[in-house]
Amino acid sequence: MTVNIDVISGLNSKAPAAILITTAQQRILLDAGGALDPDASLWSVPDNMDAVLLSHDHVDHIAGLARLPSAIPVYCTAITAQALPPGTNVHIIPVRGQFQLGDIIVTTGSCGHALGGVWFHLNIAGGIFYSGDVSMESALFHFDTPPPAQVALLDASYGLYEVSQAEQWDKLHTLFSLPTLCPVPPSGRAVELALLLARFGHQDIALDGPCLAMLRQMVEHNDGSLRPDIMGELHQLLQTLPPFSPQVKVLFAADPDGQSGMAGELRARDDFHHRTLFTGYLNRVAHQQWRNGDVDFCRWNVHPTRQSLQALVAMLDCRKLFPLFTPIDDIGHWQQTLQCEIMMQSYSGID
Ligand SMILES: [Zn+2]
Repeated sequence: MTVNIDVISGLNSKAPAAILITTAQQRILLDAGGALDPDASLWSVPDNMDAVLLSHDHVDHIAGLARLPSAIPVYCTAITAQALPPGTNVHIIPVRGQFQLGDIIVTTGSCGHALGGVWFHLNIAGGIFYSGDVSMESALFHFDTPPPAQVALLDASYGLYEVSQAEQWDKLHTLFSLPTLCPVPPSGRAVELALLLARFGHQDIALDGPCLAMLRQMVEHNDGSLRPDIMGELHQLLQTLPPFSPQVKVLFAADPDGQSGMAGELRARDDFHHRTLFTGYLNRVAHQQWRNGDVDFCRWNVHPTRQSLQALVAMLDCRKLFPLFTPIDDIGHWQQTLQCEIMMQSYSGID
């Protein structure tokens, strides 16, 4: 049986995720990402899809769903389902477990990147692994070791960047000595950064409504995406956080682009003077603001470093690798670094 892998969007640039797997029986879409930049062109929606699998609730992985026919079955975790449009044909899957799609067994595990975030392993063509977004360095999120796979579709958002979380923390930590507003995705780094700041003795930290709601859900129930050893500390954090107000020194607020939500609202106020600190992807508007010196930027690792990519390749024992969400200018260098055939086009394999 032939298996085709077609990266519709997400190859050779930081673009929304959309990957089509076609077998003789089924057409499965892995993620349905929305645009990161307001004027980005949209990927073309494939026809005759049997299922959509969503890795986590960030815009560049789910916001394209609105363009798909609503009857298509969508498989995602309970947390991811909360972010989907009403009327979506949702099938809830576990963070860590297995489910059947026709003749395919899909295995899931925690991706270490967001609450309710998973990677997928399909038991076809010698194993196909899709990481979604993934991190192996999180102080908050658990990472599950995946089973072996011949073909890996890996989050490589940082290219072959090699600065560890610990080194980044040294830089980032000092920036929080000033009144700071951090625009963040609620299910990701908001709680992790608040947790680390609390560990370092900062008490004047607050989370906006959507970020606080995520913390509450984390404290109530570990769905498998949190490190088990962190639960006591999370509980403590929830008890000690002051109510959200513009007077609090360090504020975490949605949305991650800093243009809408509470982050956008605060920045538009004349009486609000906190520095804005971006720690994730800068869209075109935010990038220009950073170039003008209007905002700060310091990366907080939520995607794999080079070492993490090498560790993933070793775990998977993969032969072919699609490096996703990053421009690739020197394939030879990637091949040498990761000791895999680097895939830049569609792939056909035999199951
Ligand atoms: Zn993400």
